Amino acid sequence: MINHFIDGKGVESISGRTFLSENPATGETIAEVARGDAEDVDRAVRSADAAFLDWSRVAPAERGKLIYKLADLLMERREEFARAESEDSGKTYRSNLNIDVPFCADFFRYYAGAADKLRTPVPNNEPGIHRYAVREPYGVIGAIAPWNFPLVMATLKLSAALACGNTVVMKMAEQTPATVTMLAELAIEAGIPAGVFNVVHGFGNEAGQALVQHPKVKKIAFTGSSAIGKLLGEQCGRMTKPALLEMGGKSANIIFADADVEMAVNGALQASLGNNGQFCLAASRILVEESIVPRFTEALVERARSIRLGDPFDASTNCGPIISQKQFERVTGYVEVGKSENARLLTGGKRPDHLKKGYFLEPTVFGEMTPDMRIWREEIFGPVVGITPFRSEDEAIALANDCDYGLGAYFWAKDVDRVHRVSAALDAGLVFVNMPAYMTPIMPAGIRNMSGTGQNFGLEALENYTKLKGVYINYSGRIFPWLK
Ligand code: NAD
Repeated sequence: MINHFIDGKGVESISGRTFLSENPATGETIAEVARGDAEDVDRAVRSADAAFLDWSRVAPAERGKLIYKLADLLMERREEFARAESEDSGKTYRSNLNIDVPFCADFFRYYAGAADKLRTPVPNNEPGIHRYAVREPYGVIGAIAPWNFPLVMATLKLSAALACGNTVVMKMAEQTPATVTMLAELAIEAGIPAGVFNVVHGFGNEAGQALVQHPKVKKIAFTGSSAIGKLLGEQCGRMTKPALLEMGGKSANIIFADADVEMAVNGALQASLGNNGQFCLAASRILVEESIVPRFTEALVERARSIRLGDPFDASTNCGPIISQKQFERVTGYVEVGKSENARLLTGGKRPDHLKKGYFLEPTVFGEMTPDMRIWREEIFGPVVGITPFRSEDEAIALANDCDYGLGAYFWAKDVDRVHRVSAALDAGLVFVNMPAYMTPIMPAGIRNMSGTGQNFGLEALENYTKLKGVYINYSGRIFPWLK
């Protein structure tokens, strides 16, 4: 049984209702999960609200030490977290163990160290008036996270929000409740007081909505699809509640003819089909300079066919399953759309013959994709990628920017002038040149267009979780006449 985690302990739903969580690699039920609604959210928010004042008054360096301890404990329990994450999400155990969990520890440590390094602008004072600005935490942050990298998505919000002195109520995606609950238990073990980090499980239209609407939740930090993000943005706007919205993507990956093609194929494979394409920066539009289309396409298709799908616990597996039956149907629906739009299916598009259980889909590559197609314009969030030829640098840039999203972009080129020109011209918050996506806590990135608002990573992310206050102090005895 996976319970909510409220006020330092696991609790069932007040209604007693539950739902079932399954292992996407087998389709089998792995846990019964507390199904939260407005009453449970209210209980969690009250706990977070009650804990806020004391937590916000803990000296920042002390808060940092507790968050640092959480990172240490997470690394000590690395295997346990990696295992639970694999069962819950279908992500491979190897990548959870070697990438995701250490990445989360890095983020906790980075923001633990940043807790006492918040800076505010101090304008010149004038005689008799002392002015200063401070950054203050919001209070209770309502965090809503997706399923694609469950622990990482929870950590990105939690690490920065807690470091700034906020308390958090998190609603994890209903598909992946396990590791965030374990993380909440670990926070108590690290010495983070009860109520500072609470978790409520359940569905978006129940627990998620209750969190967004709760008057004591002072800010919403959402990661998920653009459709839901827009809805929450509108709702928050009506309540004048600030909302950080990290939403979908449809990244382009441009392969110029002067690139190292082998490196580019390797990078494209990772950038498009890694984690089954279930990541927001997935480069599902591959733009290839006309002269190298046959060579690049042949190599990409061959490599895509060599991706080993299977048991996430098998060390030779490259990718596990898609997260759920619903998502499997959505993604295979896009395969049919691509075919009906006359994109050329080069490989994949079906369940592999040797995997009868679970939601496995062969890595899928379309050729002759064009910008009028839905598979070009819409986020698929699965292992489906399309190739489009281009003739000139200007055309490549125009094609890459012909998209409603603005999360990331990739390109492969050797010419130094081109590298700078194209980096400047791409309308994306993150640009990767001659490499697949690579993330470190220190590097800030903006979010653009239909991909959302706010900024990720770096010290800049602390601005998402603090609000500015300007203070004026008259120490001259001067009287300010309201009428001269
Ligand atoms: P989703 O929008 O369906 O759900 C995200 C979260 O919102 C879940 O916890 C869900 O329960 C909740 N939710 C759903 N409806 C809600 C409602 N009406 N009110 C309140 N909460 C609600 O997205 P998903 O399928 O879980 O995740 C995939 C999406 O996340 C993709 O679009 C992907 O690009 C995006 N994503 C973005 C980033 C980023 O950093 N920009 C990172 C990872 C994933």
